[in-house]
Amino acid sequence: MSLFKLPTLQKTDIFACAQCGYCVKKCPVYNALNWESYSPRGRLYLLKQLQDENKSFLGKLIIRDKIDVKEVAQRIYDCAICGRCEEACHLELNLPSLWAKAREALFSIGAAPQLLTQVETTILSRKNVFGMDAESRGDWVIYTGVDAPTKKEAEIAYFVGCVTSYSGRVQSVAQAIASLLNHVGANWTLLDGEWCCGHPLYVSGAVSKYKELAEHNVKAIESTGAKIVVTGCPGCRLALAEEYPAILGYEPDFEVLHFTQLLDRWLSEGRLKIEMGEELITYHDPCELARLGGVIEQPRRVISSLTSRFVEPLERGRDGVCCGSGGMLKATNPTLSATLAESRLNSLVNTGSSLILSACPTCDQSLAEAAVKAQRSVRVVDLTQLIAERLGLM
Ligand code: SF4
Ligand code: SF4
Repeated sequence: MSLFKLPTLQKTDIFACAQCGYCVKKCPVYNALNWESYSPRGRLYLLKQLQDENKSFLGKLIIRDKIDVKEVAQRIYDCAICGRCEEACHLELNLPSLWAKAREALFSIGAAPQLLTQVETTILSRKNVFGMDAESRGDWVIYTGVDAPTKKEAEIAYFVGCVTSYSGRVQSVAQAIASLLNHVGANWTLLDGEWCCGHPLYVSGAVSKYKELAEHNVKAIESTGAKIVVTGCPGCRLALAEEYPAILGYEPDFEVLHFTQLLDRWLSEGRLKIEMGEELITYHDPCELARLGGVIEQPRRVISSLTSRFVEPLERGRDGVCCGSGGMLKATNPTLSATLAESRLNSLVNTGSSLILSACPTCDQSLAEAAVKAQRSVRVVDLTQLIAERLGLM
């Protein structure tokens, strides 16, 4: 599914909602707060109130006095853009795209949460979402001690992403990916001058400068001659594979894969062999990888090569539930984000497994934090890291 190519926030899109409510109980935010205006149906109702026959959407946002625009903005930003509502919508409204377009409109009139108003400046000046020193983006190589080359030319380019590059706990994901690329003898490289992929701008609604980032990263990738770009971050994959072609107006000449897709390919080709174990393992589908990215079966095939005892949670695949960190929710409403993480962790723990895998550094962090907070004796780890450990690579 492409997030950019689908409908913009127009009157017909909003009015198409039948207010039937099939989506309501699918929404993890509604389930946490039990408040109609935080449900997808409630959010659409509020947006509908801001329409008018004779005025533009933005004009109506500014002058309508019965509706508090800041309140509407809070409802629109207290959403993980996880897409679970879309799965339930019998009219097949493209709701993740609607939420993103609503954010774009709200951001443009200064109604976005205070914290996000700086996101554009931060990313453009520091080239990462955290406002860290751009020069230290590659320091994870020093910390982990892994052999990670930056070459002029290679067959595969590894796009690391901001979270994996800068967040201590999940730098191990970069170490695992680099170790596995080395293990199979791949001709690969890091990018010389990787910038933030830009996906945080998209989900914040701050899209006016997104193209600059896309152009820079595509140029950096194309300069290596790589025909495959791999990343361990589902948000980066969405940006590179789906948002870039829409924003640039052409398809860059490389294939974009999440690392689990590459692992699956290597396993089927016999390039990678893993000894089968018997540990009870469960898996959390990252929303941006499974529902929004369509990568569902590949991680499952990889896990099935790791253990004979793979147990799935009740909500999985396209019906998986958000860990609470999507849509910048962890930054804009950490309390709500933590509530969602705790709820998701509980459903994973209910499988009986004490080994929880995911394939997203942000999901990994959220679920691990929830486990610590709830004093659960479970291990949350990235699928890639577990494989690298099994092979004695880290
Ligand atoms: S995208 Fe997720 S959090 Fe947002 S309204 Fe839909 S189900 Fe709820
Ligand atoms: S399921 Fe679709 S049509 Fe029904 S209330 Fe939700 S968004 Fe509207």
